[in-house]
Amino acid sequence: MKKSNGGHGFFKIDDFLMAQKLSWITRAIKYRIDNWRIDLYILAPDYDITRLRKIDIDRERHPILFNLVESLEYFHGQFIKENGNRFLCNIFCTPGITYDNGNSVISIGTFGRDFYTRHKEIIRRLTYSDFFRNERHRTLDDIRETLLPLTVNAWLKIRSAIARTEQLLKKDATTDRLKISIKDLLTGINKGSKKVRQVLARTRTRQELANMRTVTTFCNLVGLPVPENKVIEMYIKIWGFPFLQNEICEFIFKQRNNCLMLNNRLNAIDPEVDATCTLCRIRGFTIRDGFEHGFFGCLSINGILTKTCSLLVPVQNVESVEFRRMYWFGIVDDEVDMHVTFFFDILRYVM
Ligand SMILES: [Zn+2]
Repeated sequence: MKKSNGGHGFFKIDDFLMAQKLSWITRAIKYRIDNWRIDLYILAPDYDITRLRKIDIDRERHPILFNLVESLEYFHGQFIKENGNRFLCNIFCTPGITYDNGNSVISIGTFGRDFYTRHKEIIRRLTYSDFFRNERHRTLDDIRETLLPLTVNAWLKIRSAIARTEQLLKKDATTDRLKISIKDLLTGINKGSKKVRQVLARTRTRQELANMRTVTTFCNLVGLPVPENKVIEMYIKIWGFPFLQNEICEFIFKQRNNCLMLNNRLNAIDPEVDATCTLCRIRGFTIRDGFEHGFFGCLSINGILTKTCSLLVPVQNVESVEFRRMYWFGIVDDEVDMHVTFFFDILRYVM
């Protein structure tokens, strides 16, 4: 994952392997010189390799080609999440354009086999934007007159898939004005697989940030619901700021990824180490150390926090959700503030 998203800047091996397979597809599009490339070309609707889907390939007969097309199909589903790319994509068997609560892609079953066989060529050519006119959804009558004599049933399914896709993708901060077709992306690649990997990393990150284990674990530990993506992005990337000393980087990273060696953890490795909180022990209490205790619950720490906050911020009650959102995520008045995030990270470091 990228450093700006809290990762180490290494690529994900799954993405790398997928991008490698896509580069074979790119080769096949560019030069039809080997038998396997010609096979792909012949199997493709309108001889357009980028429109190939798994159902076009007999897995038994062409296991390797099937594998390549499987990756292409998956990539399609990710690619349409970026900017306005969806408007240029074909809707047939494209993961990401789904109805039935996300369970069904638009496939042969959507139209019925007889209808599909009769109108296969047109169906395979259908793009997302075919269902819009002047940024408005087209009516069934309009589609029937100009495109395809769709049944009401198929129309409702496609309409619901498009409405669902719009709802999911409009939320993203990306812009619809920028768009590129998958064919243009793939034919524009000269060498390597970086462009494909970048698409995979960007779309996956936006989508999965809130579900990442690092994030859910941290929110669990601090007892707060998972915040919006832009808040996560801020608190998770802060450790990689270039002006920080190594010790502070290390501390913030470990803190966010819950791998600090607190007394309770050290005790699990070496029973000689006392698992209780050192500060509490000094005060005559025996309380087990841990993440929440060490940074918040401990009386000594909580006292420091109360004092600091009474001096610095207008929130007097450190137990309030308002304070804890500021303390852990840097959120002030519902906006994430990098300086606040940073201030409390440093405060926890010196504590
Ligand atoms: Zn304590």
